[in-house]
Amino acid sequence: SIVVTGATGHLGRHVVEQLLEKVPAEQITAVVRDEQKAADFAARGVRPAVADYNAPETFDGLFTAGDKVLLISGNEFDKGRVGQHRVVIDAAKAAGVALLAYTSAPGGLTAALADDHRATEEVLLASGLPYALLRNGWYFENYTENLAPVLEHSAVVQAAGDGRISAASRADYAAAAVAVLTGEGHENKTYELGGDEAFGFAQYAAELSRQTGKEIAYTSVSAEAYTGILTGAGLPGPLAAILAGVDASIEKGELVVSSGDLSRLAGRPTTPLAEAVAAALKG
Ligand code: NDP
Repeated sequence: SIVVTGATGHLGRHVVEQLLEKVPAEQITAVVRDEQKAADFAARGVRPAVADYNAPETFDGLFTAGDKVLLISGNEFDKGRVGQHRVVIDAAKAAGVALLAYTSAPGGLTAALADDHRATEEVLLASGLPYALLRNGWYFENYTENLAPVLEHSAVVQAAGDGRISAASRADYAAAAVAVLTGEGHENKTYELGGDEAFGFAQYAAELSRQTGKEIAYTSVSAEAYTGILTGAGLPGPLAAILAGVDASIEKGELVVSSGDLSRLAGRPTTPLAEAVAAALKG
């Protein structure tokens, strides 16, 4: 089977949906924490498997020799994600899966956010399993799902200077994952995934202006000011610091991806900025 962890997350849902277009539902296993959340998939024939990265025993016997597994990185920053991912890798190793693909971060990213990903990559390589590293760049949705304050204040506020970013939509990254899970020859490959066209936040603000008819400007602030704005909006301090670190990396160009791997794997161009903005404004 093709087994997808984090299947009821935002990216996982896109992956399962796109897998359903390519392979029979009974060949897909959705690993979920809450079976209720996967009821729609189960109704369409996808096999649910309940497991939690924090409970290694829940992965006992979950994988079968020959499975192709997509390990979608977790989102519990305070629970030791490397240890969580190791649980999945160990279980996959014990079963003898044919491929373990992992959603990582761009190879050039030095922000603290990348630490768990680099460490997980090391665990995966040391396991000896056939692997595929899907080094996902940044999602458009990180911005387009947080448009309310931008529209309210007519301001895009980041701490990224003139840095550019090769964002793509979650559906684009999912298409790359599906290509790897359903195609051949992806063993022991590393893919640097990002949108075809890098853009800066001034360009993002200009696109928002164009589509809303409002005058929306980009203001780049210091990392300290940005962290303060995020915590003021209710984000926990450690998360705000991580995001400020990402902006520093954007300023240095670390989230520019020019490999072309994403559109090559997806077999089509990545979602353009204008389209991502239009979808967000409509939704
Ligand atoms: P989501 O937060 O929507 O999904 C995270 C998934 O991980 C959920 O399905 C969640 O399960 C699952 N999960 C979390 N903890 C556990 C656990 N202990 N055991 C089992 N499953 C668990 O994130 P996205 O889908 O948007 O993104 C996928 C991953 O990519 C993120 O988790 C994060 O690591 C990374 N990411 C990448 C970004 C980028 O721009 N490239 C931006 C943000 C995150 P459940 O459905 O039960 O909640």
